[in-house]
Amino acid sequence: MEKAETPLQHVQANIAAACRIARREPEEVTLIAVSKMHPAEAIEPLLREGQRHFGENRVQEAQGKWPALREAYPAVQLHLIGQLQSNKAEDAVALFDAIHSLDRPSLVKALGKAMDKSGRRVPCFVQVDVGEEDQKGGCPVAELPALIEQARQADIPLAGLMCLPPQDIEPAPFFAFLDKLARDHGLEGRSMGMSGDYETAIKLGATHVRVGTALFGARPAAG
Ligand SMILES: *Cc1c(COP(=O)(O)O)cnc(C)c1O
Repeated sequence: MEKAETPLQHVQANIAAACRIARREPEEVTLIAVSKMHPAEAIEPLLREGQRHFGENRVQEAQGKWPALREAYPAVQLHLIGQLQSNKAEDAVALFDAIHSLDRPSLVKALGKAMDKSGRRVPCFVQVDVGEEDQKGGCPVAELPALIEQARQADIPLAGLMCLPPQDIEPAPFFAFLDKLARDHGLEGRSMGMSGDYETAIKLGATHVRVGTALFGARPAAG
């Protein structure tokens, strides 16, 4: 095999290899480059290489960085992957092309209202608290059916489910669980897998992997 030259090519090759093992097509997997905390100068090389899906975890940071980059690269698709406060729902709906952190009834209400008002219907992933860790956000598994129903009634397009498994534990069982939940609810998308485990996630059905460090290197420390 030829040596991968850039981090993006390296990750793409790993995705293709995981797909081959899982007998899936690479087109079934969307690579989201998680650019949170990285400045525009770090993002531009990936844009020049053709990467178009990017993930950010803060509305305000994304509002500062992306309008200018998007002018140069109009095909960019922005994914919100971090917790969202209800009072930022309108801003999030205006800026993002997908929201991966829908996790509670109050946010369903706020997003539904924001989408009605703007006429822009942004596909959402319901974030599931697969590890039962309150601090990361995510809908408790027991409350998932009701939340999905509320989102459907609010006319929020549901893209699928998302999870962020507990750290330092083998993630595969959590990925398999999310895959099963998505199937049970008739949802296509599975947003799971990060730099350390995206290949495992792909083998277990991920449709969207969120990769930061493997593409950009370590994030600059928060100020
Ligand atoms: C930061 C972040 C990622 C990317 O993590 P890496 O380990 O840098 O790949 C993925 N998903 C979420 C929700 C994140 O906050």
